[in-house]
Amino acid sequence: MLPRVAIFAMGGTIAMAGRGERGVTPSLGADALVEAVPQLAEVASIEAETFRLLPSPEVTIPDLFALADAIEQAVADGADGVVVTHGTDTMEESAFLLDRILDLDAPVVLTGAMRNPTLAGPDGPANLLNGVRLAVHEPARGLGVMVVMNDEIHAARYVRKTVTSNPAAFRSAPAGPLGWFAEGAVRLAGRPGPRRAIAVARDAEVAPVALLTVTLGDDGRLIERALDAGYQGIVMECTGGGHAAAWVADKLADAAQRVPVVMASRTGAGEMLRQTYDFKGSEIDLLARGMINAGWLDGLKARLLLTLLLMAGGDDAAIREEFSAWLDPDPAH
Ligand code: ASP
Repeated sequence: MLPRVAIFAMGGTIAMAGRGERGVTPSLGADALVEAVPQLAEVASIEAETFRLLPSPEVTIPDLFALADAIEQAVADGADGVVVTHGTDTMEESAFLLDRILDLDAPVVLTGAMRNPTLAGPDGPANLLNGVRLAVHEPARGLGVMVVMNDEIHAARYVRKTVTSNPAAFRSAPAGPLGWFAEGAVRLAGRPGPRRAIAVARDAEVAPVALLTVTLGDDGRLIERALDAGYQGIVMECTGGGHAAAWVADKLADAAQRVPVVMASRTGAGEMLRQTYDFKGSEIDLLARGMINAGWLDGLKARLLLTLLLMAGGDDAAIREEFSAWLDPDPAH
């Protein structure tokens, strides 16, 4: 008896073909994706569903909550693992969000393609096959949501798309990939830290959180505009380890009196500083004036975490505690 895998297709390049006049558009449903990879039948018994057919910038948080429900149902109905095919543009965000709201032992693997099926050397079929191999791999149980691309396995909490258009676009920072595939075998070299699932009602209203970036010479006016526009939280991608110009720091400090303001690094990798620089607008100054430290989460992930915490009704203390827990992925320390 082969293990059972549920595949949910969301769209993305893996499902794009030449139906548009000027380029490819999402066209292929789950069955077509599965039919293109006959080797899948040797690895698992597959049930495939076209859940959405979207370019991934159009995936929304309610879409992901609905997908989480469907994943839980598939596992309750006996699936050993789940694969989600998804556009690569926002795959890291969907993976991170699902990893926060799902509390399952069954592996949940997101995969997609950088080269669409009309190009020479499309990577979608190989990625899908690897995704299913990981979904049925017993030692991958309990690892949470993962991303499989280009023969590598990434933890949802670390993965980022780092290149616009080559198959090696996905990287894990600050830690490296969890593993890789060799001649079809799954190699797991590491485990992510413990899962930190957040209990959010699946019908909770989405809490809008703005993601802004500190840029050279900018006066920070978007900070005030974001509050006027009704954002309930702000994530600011600061320069380096957590810095902003003195005049931007003043605006951030004002905003932090009204909504949670999280500081991440615009470098996209590495841990935020806490106790190195002490000029006005430095990390010491910003933290002393109420900013929340994103630790090693990048801006995109910090924004989703803050969104979910606000949706869960977390107060200021709960939000701070959750962010600080991410600074140390091993609670035994
Ligand atoms: N370029 C994207 C992809 O790789 C399009 C999308 O994200 O839907 O799938």
